[in-house]
Amino acid sequence: MSFQIFLGSGGTPISTPDSSTQSGIKQIAKLGLNAMEVEFVRGVKMSAVTAREVGNLASELGVRLSAHAPYYINLLSDDAAIVKASKQRILDSIDRADKMGADTVAVHAAYYGKNTPEEAQNGMKDSVADIVDRMKESGTKVILGLETMAKGAQWGTLDEILDLHKRWKVVVPYLDWCHIWARNNGSIDYAEILDRLHKAGIKHVNSHFSNSKYNSNTKKWQDIHVPMGLSRPKFDELANEVVKRKASITIISESPVLEVDSLRMKRIFEKLGYKFGK
Ligand SMILES: [Zn+2]
Repeated sequence: MSFQIFLGSGGTPISTPDSSTQSGIKQIAKLGLNAMEVEFVRGVKMSAVTAREVGNLASELGVRLSAHAPYYINLLSDDAAIVKASKQRILDSIDRADKMGADTVAVHAAYYGKNTPEEAQNGMKDSVADIVDRMKESGTKVILGLETMAKGAQWGTLDEILDLHKRWKVVVPYLDWCHIWARNNGSIDYAEILDRLHKAGIKHVNSHFSNSKYNSNTKKWQDIHVPMGLSRPKFDELANEVVKRKASITIISESPVLEVDSLRMKRIFEKLGYKFGK
C-alpha cells in the first residue's frame, strides 16, 4: 500500500478496563485500530520510564502514537512567566513523546490577546524559534504540531501555522477538522486543505476529527464535539479526498464516543477500498 491510514482515539478508549496508557494501547489493538493520542492535557505527569514502556508496547502492537500537550499554554501571554512555563510544558511533552516513539505533539499554542494578527505572528515566531532551538539541542525526532483552533480569539489558522512551517520543517499543522469547520462557521474544503499540505511537503497529516455542535439561537457552529453523523462536518467527504489523493494520515477521534467513531471511520475507509493491515 502506497499510503497509510491510522485511526484511533484521543486518550485511552472508553471501553478500556482501566485508565492506564498501556491498557489503552492494548485496547486499541484489540479493537482493530492502529493509533492513539496520549493526553498530557492536564499536565505532563508521565515518568520517563513509563514513557519508554508505553513506546515499547505500542511498537510491539503496531499502534502509532502521538501526544497532546497541556491545555494551559499561551505563547502570546503578556506575562513572561506564563510564556516561559508554556514553552516548558511543550518541551516536556516533546521529551515524553520522544521516549514513547510518538512522532508529533499537538499544541493549543496561544490567544491573540491585545495583539494584532501581525504582532501575534511575530510573537509566535520568537517563541517557536526558541522552542525549535531547544528541540534541536535535545536531538528529538518529534515534530511540533500546532493545532488549528476553532475560536476567533485563538491564534492558529492554517495560514498562520503554514507560515511557520515554511521557516521550520519541524513545525507542522496538527489539523482539527472540527475546529476548522467551526472557525469558518460551517464550511470546509477538504480537498484544498490536503492539497496545500501536500504542496508544503508534509508527508503525513496528523489530525483530529469529531462533529461540531450548531447553536440555532446564535446561528454559530461551536467548539463543542458531538458524535460523527449527528452533525457536521461530514466524514465520508474527508475519507473520499484522502483515498483519492493517497494521502497518509492519522485521524484521532475526539468525539464523545471516541473509539466507536474510530471504528465507523474504519468501515468508511474499507468501503472505499482501503485495506488496513493485520
Ligand atoms: Zn487539541
